[in-house]
Amino acid sequence: SLSERLGGVFERLRGRGALGEADVRAAMREVRIALLEADVALPVVRDFIEKVTEQAVGHQVVKSVTPGQQVVKIVNDALVEMLGSETAELELDVSPPAIIMMVGLQGSGKTTTSAKIAKRLTEKDRKKVLMASLDVNRPAAQEQLATLGTQVNVATLPIVAGQQPVDIARRALQAAKLQGFDVLVLDTAGRLHVDQALMDEMKAVADVAQPQEILLVVDSLTGQDAVNVAKNFSEQVPLTGVVLTRMDGDARGGAALSMRAVTGKPIKFAGMGEKLDALEQFHPSRVAGRILGMGDVVSLVERATETINADEAEKLAQKMAKGQFDMNDLRAQLDQMKRMGGMGALASMMPGIKKVQNAMANGQVDDRILVRMDAMIGSMTPKERSKPELLNAKRKIRVAKGSGTTVQDVNRLLKMHQEMSSAMKKIRKMGGLKGLGALFG
Ligand code: GDP
Ligand code: MG
Repeated sequence: SLSERLGGVFERLRGRGALGEADVRAAMREVRIALLEADVALPVVRDFIEKVTEQAVGHQVVKSVTPGQQVVKIVNDALVEMLGSETAELELDVSPPAIIMMVGLQGSGKTTTSAKIAKRLTEKDRKKVLMASLDVNRPAAQEQLATLGTQVNVATLPIVAGQQPVDIARRALQAAKLQGFDVLVLDTAGRLHVDQALMDEMKAVADVAQPQEILLVVDSLTGQDAVNVAKNFSEQVPLTGVVLTRMDGDARGGAALSMRAVTGKPIKFAGMGEKLDALEQFHPSRVAGRILGMGDVVSLVERATETINADEAEKLAQKMAKGQFDMNDLRAQLDQMKRMGGMGALASMMPGIKKVQNAMANGQVDDRILVRMDAMIGSMTPKERSKPELLNAKRKIRVAKGSGTTVQDVNRLLKMHQEMSSAMKKIRKMGGLKGLGALFG
């Protein structure tokens, strides 16, 4: 059965408190391969592994997972943190027009993303948006933006043949000011690779427009080259953020980590398709899971900190859902804890019991606390046991006397029961404990 298999796992891990250097190094070899396979640039992989190895050595291993699994969780958390723990918004809080300038390599998705962002600002934030294409290099580039503008109901600057990018930018600024636009999106010409003439043009436009946001648009399929792209662009203009396009494709998302590491700027959006509503907020945890390809292990470790014996817990959860987790169930838990040496079915997930367990592990208390709790429950009437809310001050005194404890002890027991109940409810909300068995294999 599941609990037997789990018992075996605990047996093997017994006495294994902290991650040893050998465990970590072994796991990091796998992590390194996963990162490279996800197209994270090599220098970024090196720095990252070094940093995380340092963090992981000496880290406590949660009971019921292997050290390797624990390491994956640590790596995952470090990835999420590095990708930007909170979602970054556009910063357009200036007297209008706020200016957004899009930069990036040719074909990265600048023009499409300009229209996507304009649509979003128009529809979600009720902004009046003007778009202007400064791309005089590619034939029909300005017409492309105009067409997209029509599709998303966003105004575009009228095209004047023969004008240079800086002049178009000036004209766009003036139009935005005169016509009361809130936001001006400047779509610039692409570069096939980093080319100084175009870089100079981009800088000149940035000087004239003084944008609040300069977004570097990067194809998420960009592999090892992502580092160079990020470096070159961020050296030329003060980037404020990154947009990763084609996240709907096969890319494992390693470019995200490379961009973030090199520019230090948040990834503000993810392009999720060619359609103009396919723009999402960037989700660090989702991308971390994709990079590692180990989402299941991460959630295993997360859940393992909450539960040991899924069968038992599920049974109790069902009782709980019906509002039936009472003192008799708590007593059964305590009993099991005694028998299993501190490993009750709910032990590691229940806040109340966890405290007792920790205290026991630290030698602050011994088995006697379990005996006392048992005695308190024993001194309750059957009615009180199934309905602990009946225990008023008077009854508590009676229970304390009957069990040779104090009212304080009784209150502590009741609090523990309450904490367990609300923890149970939370777990119910999160979808219950079913299916955990599969995770434990
Ligand atoms: P630009 O040269 O940087 O302006 O790139 P474009 O905006 O013209 O985009 C180049 C191609 O990539 C077009 O065919 C777009 O439809 C496509 N594209 C842009 N963003 C995405 C995305 O997030 N997902 C997918 N699948 N295609 C995209
Ligand atoms: Mg373009």
